[in-house]
Amino acid sequence: METRTNNTTREIADLLKSLDKVAVTTHVGADGDAIGSSAALVRLMRSLGAEAVFCHREPVPNYLRWLVPGEALPELPPDHDLLVVDTSRADRVGVDYEGVPVRLNLDHHADNPLYGEYNLVDGTAAASAQIVASLYKECGVPLEKDSATAIYTGVSTDTGGFRFRNVSPAAHELVADLLRAGVVPAEVDDRINRTGTVPQLKIVGASLANAERHGNAIISTVDNDDYERTGASELDSKESIDRLRTVAGVEVVAHLREVEGGTKGSLRSESVDVSEVARRFGGGGHRLAAGFTVRGKKPDEAKAELLDALKGVVDLGEGSENGGAR
Ligand code: 5GP
Ligand code: MN
Repeated sequence: METRTNNTTREIADLLKSLDKVAVTTHVGADGDAIGSSAALVRLMRSLGAEAVFCHREPVPNYLRWLVPGEALPELPPDHDLLVVDTSRADRVGVDYEGVPVRLNLDHHADNPLYGEYNLVDGTAAASAQIVASLYKECGVPLEKDSATAIYTGVSTDTGGFRFRNVSPAAHELVADLLRAGVVPAEVDDRINRTGTVPQLKIVGASLANAERHGNAIISTVDNDDYERTGASELDSKESIDRLRTVAGVEVVAHLREVEGGTKGSLRSESVDVSEVARRFGGGGHRLAAGFTVRGKKPDEAKAELLDALKGVVDLGEGSENGGAR
């Protein structure tokens, strides 16, 4: 196999300046950094004089829709160079791109295999949006309020509001620049965190009610019955994982939700390499935040497999196979 190399910010800035028409996309199940970094890259390309569109086969979640300039296209338009952000693997790209080369793969997942023709992967960046910000600087394009807001959304959501271990002096220094460019954090917080619905509240509640502790791990599950009962969708349940982290003494938290064809798992930790656990299920991600999908299994069955995989990784306490202490 050909060895791919990581490019420098300078090389990527030169590449971007040479492009006329680009389509920007990101990973499936897009989150704040996925959409924030995409929106900021679309704006950068437009500032450089290119035609730039955002493409994704899935609808942009409502709480992030306002960040994307213009319409989001479900399919790649012809004759556009494909730029992919925040996507750790080629099979997680959010559009069908058969036969189309990935011109740029920009990401902050350390396990990214550099699948682009050009790659800008920095595992020390708190968010992909932070890497896009470095390209504004390198291209000499000043940040204005809209682009700075998109970048701020990426950095603030991927750091859990500047609380996670990926926060760095560089991230805070960038945020100072973003605020000088006009970002109002309270406005972003309103749009991101205060757009919920009662069904969303209820699915998070259902997920928390289903949580079970096994030694130093805690796992919550939601399935189709929960979606039906609450009127919420599977993605709505995901934020419950952050509440699981509030339990004292817990080292690994997991959320398992039923999706079409199987169960999607999210793993978080403060200390344990959960990307290693996710990889055993064919998934991946960051050391302390990772995910995977188990095909053909309901959350309860996936939970049994996950507990098996967690043996030796985290203390599961006594009698964990039987449910453990609640
Ligand atoms: P989340 O739990 O928020 O879906 O994902 C946490 C992290 O793990 C994200 O950085 C995401 O890119 C990565 N991740 C989630 N699911 C998968 C997966 O199925 N495969 C891989 N390779 N990474 C995943
Ligand atoms: Mn990210």
